[in-house]
Amino acid sequence: MASSGEPRANLGAIGGGGTDEVLSAGALLGLSVEEFDAADVETLGDAELADELVGMRRAIDRLEAQFSRRLVRFEAIQGYESAGATNLLSWLRWACRMGTSAAARRLHMARQLIELPQTESAWRSGAISSGHAAVIGRAVDEVGAEHARSAEPTLLEAAEHMNPGHVWLVGQQIRHTVDPDGALAASNAAYARRRLNLTTNIDGALELAGLFDAEGGAVLRTAIDALTRPLPGDQRISAQRRADALVELARRQLDGGVLPGAGGQRPHLNITVSAGALRREDDAPPAELEWVGPITADTVRRLGCDAVRCTLVLDERGSPLSVGRATRTISPALRRALIVRDRGCRFPGCDRPPSWTDAHHLVHWADEGDTEIKNLVLLCRPHHRFVHEEGWTLRWGDGAEVLATPP
Ligand SMILES: [Zn+2]
Ligand SMILES: [Zn+2]
Repeated sequence: MASSGEPRANLGAIGGGGTDEVLSAGALLGLSVEEFDAADVETLGDAELADELVGMRRAIDRLEAQFSRRLVRFEAIQGYESAGATNLLSWLRWACRMGTSAAARRLHMARQLIELPQTESAWRSGAISSGHAAVIGRAVDEVGAEHARSAEPTLLEAAEHMNPGHVWLVGQQIRHTVDPDGALAASNAAYARRRLNLTTNIDGALELAGLFDAEGGAVLRTAIDALTRPLPGDQRISAQRRADALVELARRQLDGGVLPGAGGQRPHLNITVSAGALRREDDAPPAELEWVGPITADTVRRLGCDAVRCTLVLDERGSPLSVGRATRTISPALRRALIVRDRGCRFPGCDRPPSWTDAHHLVHWADEGDTEIKNLVLLCRPHHRFVHEEGWTLRWGDGAEVLATPP
């Protein structure tokens, strides 16, 4: 039964019969897993599935504890060297097929728990989960082994009836009590690490990567969460809704005009476009968006639907001859009338409030459409995009309803 060449472990009397047969850990576990593999999961009811999921998770956690225990020993005797590896991490990557961060995390946690024997044994017995053990282990780094050991009983007690996230909060409370200077230093260090990198890709898309301190992060999350509610029949995944929410947040701020002005004007999107490009004529030079470069005519037409416009006449060398007055496409009075009539986005099934909307020209002003209430409807930004960039068409139905036809 035992396969050769695998690390062997004497796991006690296996298979009964009093033989001293030794089965490798991998082979023994493999046999159990094969039994589960043979089951037809389609036939399992919800209670059975729940039972199995809980049971398996407990067993996986206990097995993780055993893995961790052996890992500590393997490191102490430098067992990886006889396998030809220079360090334990690379051995874990190669022999255990683990990713670098997963291997590093396990190893770090195994080392932390050397300092916390009570936690290690609670993990082995299944009294706490791997998530709990990870959170409690972190106390060693945060407050030092001695303080961590004195906090250990409280944390283990919390783990009996709290999920790992809540145990972490208990740990933070203890930390602020036993080591207020350290907690302040850590919070200051997190604040010092804050950053936001904005990179424009070749295709004009903006890539955003950042890190915020806890308080800044909470403010940002609260503001974004407030704008991520899905629409009826929303096809957007949550990451897309968060991206839209962040843009919406910025747009509201710009529209509100409370940001410090740039060059005597309200900061906003600056687009330079020829009349030909607005009419989608083939030989017209593309429109340009400041910071981004060329953008499609459909996007310009959408942005132009409801914008502040300013005519700039250029001579043949591209020097300005005259600059017209900046005027709003939609006057404040017209917008108020639209809000009274539409009360929000008019796309069928959408109920976003007026503050989310642009005024859309059913026949674009660049195509001689009138800026009059009968040629205008309020559309939220995602639905305004549907119409311009994604090929939907809108028209008035027989009554006062708006009909939408997909591309
Ligand atoms: Zn429009
Ligand atoms: Zn809408």
